[in-house]
Amino acid sequence: MLAQRTKLFKSSGTAAARAAAKAAADAGMEIVDLTAGEIWSDLAPTIRDGAIEAIRQGLNRYTDTIGSMELREALARKVSVETGQLWLAEEIAVTSGAKQALFNVAMALINPGDQVIIPAPYWTTFPAQVQIAGGTPVHIDTRGNGYVPRIDDIRRVVTPLTRAIVVNTPGNPTGAVYDAETLVAIGRLAVEQDLWIIFDECYAPFTYDGHRHHPVVSLVPEVRARMVIVNSFSKSLALTGWRVGYLAAPKELISAVKGLQSHTTSNPNVVAQHAVQHHLRDGDGTFEARLRGQLKAARQAGLAALSQLQRVPIPEAQGGFYFYLDLSSVLRPTLDDDHAETSDDIVSALLAQAGVAGVSGTAFGDAVGLRFSYGIPPELLEAGLERVVRVLNAWI
Ligand code: PLP
Repeated sequence: MLAQRTKLFKSSGTAAARAAAKAAADAGMEIVDLTAGEIWSDLAPTIRDGAIEAIRQGLNRYTDTIGSMELREALARKVSVETGQLWLAEEIAVTSGAKQALFNVAMALINPGDQVIIPAPYWTTFPAQVQIAGGTPVHIDTRGNGYVPRIDDIRRVVTPLTRAIVVNTPGNPTGAVYDAETLVAIGRLAVEQDLWIIFDECYAPFTYDGHRHHPVVSLVPEVRARMVIVNSFSKSLALTGWRVGYLAAPKELISAVKGLQSHTTSNPNVVAQHAVQHHLRDGDGTFEARLRGQLKAARQAGLAALSQLQRVPIPEAQGGFYFYLDLSSVLRPTLDDDHAETSDDIVSALLAQAGVAGVSGTAFGDAVGLRFSYGIPPELLEAGLERVVRVLNAWI
């Protein structure tokens, strides 16, 4: 009945985990939900004031398809500061969240049959979008290297059909922050092999313990002609519901994205655009600093709770706001791979026995991983993780 395309992908695993948590809560269980990829926070005052101003001004019309010129100019200045290079408004497109930016890029860059390298564990939307565009995701396993790909492993899977590589740092779900050396190697490989880099830096403001975020284009300026920066305000301003993201790329790609967006969603919501523009003009960094402080404190408290784990290694959580556990030491091996225990079993047990919801690594291409978000109120987080520790320590 439906188009073949709809069979290429499953709906988002994280959304399914959220739904399971909600169903348990609706059934009367007291659930600590650690599934969400968003931060519990107030609205930034500058965002609120900008939106009110937009409504008072009676803004109601279409903007330019890829965002108002004022917002694109402000974003070009932001990207220029962050990369240490000059970017112009014609190299920026505003989108309804980073997800749409990535979708536009997939549709504009990938031909049927093209291969796209996506290090695993990966955020589920990356391979789904590649498949929708007719491409083939090629995964490389990063689990033996702190969830950062080894350059030799990438090189090994490059073929004449390879079109692009996805670099997501800090990474969802793993929280891994790519080191400068790896990024330089990936940048050089992209230039040498004529590959695009799809550089998703949605979690850039959140790095810890001396780990630093580096835009790949700052390290290897020659990649600029073959690189797309994808970013959003969903995480950096705790603004998931407002749907404002953007991409920075060569102007030919921006122009193709504009064409695509003109036939799909047209411009992102005008009130949200105005609010973000207002924030970029009037924000003094206080809100962002508060958000970073909140996550840093939550991470500390969460790691303290997780330090009681006896068999599961304590996660590094270098960036973002996720704890990603490697459960391989507690999962029971079986002779029959089809019936092997996976993190799905542990996720179900945690929901049933501890009332805590996490996302199984199977959603991220990793049957032994487990993701918990720490973007939630601290008292809930600590209580939830203490219960997780009890179940995992007793797991036989
Ligand atoms: N990129 C990554 C790596 C993400 O984790 C997410 C959301 O979870 C997105 C992009 C999408 O963000 P947005 O809400 O801006 O569409």
